[in-house]
Amino acid sequence: MTAAKKYPNLFSPLDLGFTQIKNRVIMGSMHTGLEDIDNGFERMAAFFAERARGGVGMIITGGFSPNLEGGLGHEKSSLNSQQGVANHRTVTDAVHEADPDVKICMQILHSGPLASTAAAVAPSPVRSRISPIVPNELDEAGIEKQIADHVSYAAQAQKAGYDGVEIIGSAGYLLSTFLVEKTNRRTDQWGGSYENRMRFPVEIARRVREAVGPDFIIVFRIAAMDMLQGGLSWDEIIQLAHKLEDVGVSILSTHFTWHESTVPTIATMVPRAAFASVTGRLRKEVSIPCITSNRINMPDVAESVLAKGDADLVSMARPMLADADLVRKAEQGREDEINTCIGCNQACLDHTFSGKLTTCLVNPRACNETVLNYDPVTSKKKIAVVGAGPAGLAYATVAAERGHDVTLIDAADQIGGQFNLAKQIPGKEEFYETLRYYKKMLEVHGVTVQLNTRATASSLKAGGYDEVIIATGIKPRTPDIEGIDHPKVVSYIDVINGSASVGKKVAIMGAGGIGFDVAELITHKGKSSALDIDLFAKEWGIDFKNHPRGGVTGVEPIVAHNDREVVVMQRKTSAVGRTLGKTTGWTHRITLKRRGVKTMSGVEYRRIDDQGLHITVGNEPDILDVDTVILCAGQTPLRTLYDELEGEGLNLHLVGGAYEAAELDAKQAINQASYLAAAV
Ligand code: FAD
Ligand code: NAP
Ligand code: SF4
Repeated sequence: MTAAKKYPNLFSPLDLGFTQIKNRVIMGSMHTGLEDIDNGFERMAAFFAERARGGVGMIITGGFSPNLEGGLGHEKSSLNSQQGVANHRTVTDAVHEADPDVKICMQILHSGPLASTAAAVAPSPVRSRISPIVPNELDEAGIEKQIADHVSYAAQAQKAGYDGVEIIGSAGYLLSTFLVEKTNRRTDQWGGSYENRMRFPVEIARRVREAVGPDFIIVFRIAAMDMLQGGLSWDEIIQLAHKLEDVGVSILSTHFTWHESTVPTIATMVPRAAFASVTGRLRKEVSIPCITSNRINMPDVAESVLAKGDADLVSMARPMLADADLVRKAEQGREDEINTCIGCNQACLDHTFSGKLTTCLVNPRACNETVLNYDPVTSKKKIAVVGAGPAGLAYATVAAERGHDVTLIDAADQIGGQFNLAKQIPGKEEFYETLRYYKKMLEVHGVTVQLNTRATASSLKAGGYDEVIIATGIKPRTPDIEGIDHPKVVSYIDVINGSASVGKKVAIMGAGGIGFDVAELITHKGKSSALDIDLFAKEWGIDFKNHPRGGVTGVEPIVAHNDREVVVMQRKTSAVGRTLGKTTGWTHRITLKRRGVKTMSGVEYRRIDDQGLHITVGNEPDILDVDTVILCAGQTPLRTLYDELEGEGLNLHLVGGAYEAAELDAKQAINQASYLAAAV
């Protein structure tokens, strides 16, 4: 079936009057960290040009602050100079050379009270829950300066060859703090009535339009649901949308959160396209096009949102990190070759908020386009990869893509290694997509796959391989505790696979990612809310239908009853759950707390017997009367094969968990394997 038939909406152009967007897919704004590094413009140019070649209709860059108060620390990449304009030209030229029909807009982001600078400004000196800084209250002259800086930045962007700008008016950044009473306590013409509170963002949009003329795209990122107690009401959102339309905004891009909100909006546990209906409602109120976003990660999801009339354009940000060619693959009917964003945040947002360069767990080339390349080989090697977990799969597919002759061997009856456990955790259903992708890539690149085959030292020695890659993963750690072989004690593997029965009173030994995942699994009832938008809304206290202020004001989360008593424990004295993902850990901690799961830190395990688990906490001995103790106590590398083969004259390499199990996750496994396979 042709793309036009399969995706009649996705591949239809959008006419803005003065220009056209060639299809309905927008690459949403993401801060990558490339903005701040030495050869950042060259790398940004390569990053965006690759996405332009990949078929996206319009790109929005990461946010650039119009001034120092805006606080992104992007002095290096500022547009406020001739050199700055020339630097940004590198990026816009690269995109337009890659495909003259692709549009690129620069996002103007003023952090307001979220700026990490003492110069931070806001309508009122109200500190955000997530910032240590009390912002400086703007006076009239200060407000005029902020508006003027936005306007001149947009004009500079136009000079630099951008097709437009996106002004961010949501998320708890400067513009949105004018809109909401909680952060705007002013009594002058910029505060008080809603008419006054809207004045600042509307003035910015109006004066930007005046400055850039009619033929320049202005996207306004509007908070269509703040996910904040006391956020905007539905009427206020509509009023703002009308005003923005009146002053010449070309497109409204709907946004669904303030950073300080306690509702997950993009994590993997959020159902696909969960918020699109809100955009749909706004779209009916205005005559300019609306963009929707959040957890739209595959072309069929995007098409269905458009077909329902929920949006004119679909923004995919992280999916463009995971696969630069997503749109082109959909156009060519190669959807099963799409490397799907799994919503893990592990290498994108977690990196951004830790000051590290953004990349992608499933695609380490993202933001490394000039560093990591899978070039064709001139001399083909015969390579054996033992283990088809994430490390082995990444190695095998990259090496084969480059032209090597690769055989992938796994003792199991399916590829995936531990991802076959991860995918069974409610809320982690996206992991199936990664396995689907790798299965297809093995086929596309002609890897010989031998399943149900345990590789041995002798079979590998006899194979005549030029390189042998040991990606055999890990073995779960069994702590040295008296009674560890008591029948109450079970391993997380058997619990997830369903081969161990779990009682009503449970102690989970180990509070890492797996300890939390197991707690999620055994306290979960019914359907996964990641697959059901209504259930998700109920669990997180969102009212999509009545849209109270901020979407959540006065709505209590309703959690399915859990009939198990569960305690998650660790020996460390730090807070339990600290090691979970920076931007997702809180969602797991809140979920389990709401289900009544207890946590304990500083635990010394003494013994396990018929009475239960004997522990000491802070010199106080205790016996936990539990039916089941689930071991989630970390892992150690499984290197038996490597040890047997070392010194046998083979070119041996260790990757993934077999190389290092401490702190190992799929991000590291795939990253390490990809770099090694790019160099072989
Ligand atoms: P493995 O995945 O362990 O694969 C090793 C493979 O080698 C296995 O398939 C095994 O059958 C095979 N093998 C071993 N010996 C032989 C032999 N002699 N011959 C043939 N085959 C052999 N990571 C994240 O980053 N994010 C997450 O959200 C996440 N969630 C997780 C949830 C759960 C429940 C679990 C268990 C893990 C999770 N992980 C997560 C961790 C992640 O899955 C591992 O870090 C990753 O799988 C390690 O990859 P690997 O390829 O090194 O090893
Ligand atoms: P982990 O994060 O290292 O946690 C292991 C836990 O076991 C810790 O709580 C540790 O705490 C405890 N432990 C270690 N040695 C022990 C011992 N000898 N006796 C008793 N307890 C011991 O490892 P994991 O949970 O097994 O996860 C494996 C990898 O998969 C991790 O890298 C993790 O990031 C990744 N993963 C990620 C996610 C995710 O959502 N991002 C989910 C699952 C897994 P104490 O030492 O304090 O007791
Ligand atoms: Fe998506 Fe995870 Fe990659 Fe981020 S790191 S783009 S969430 S797959």
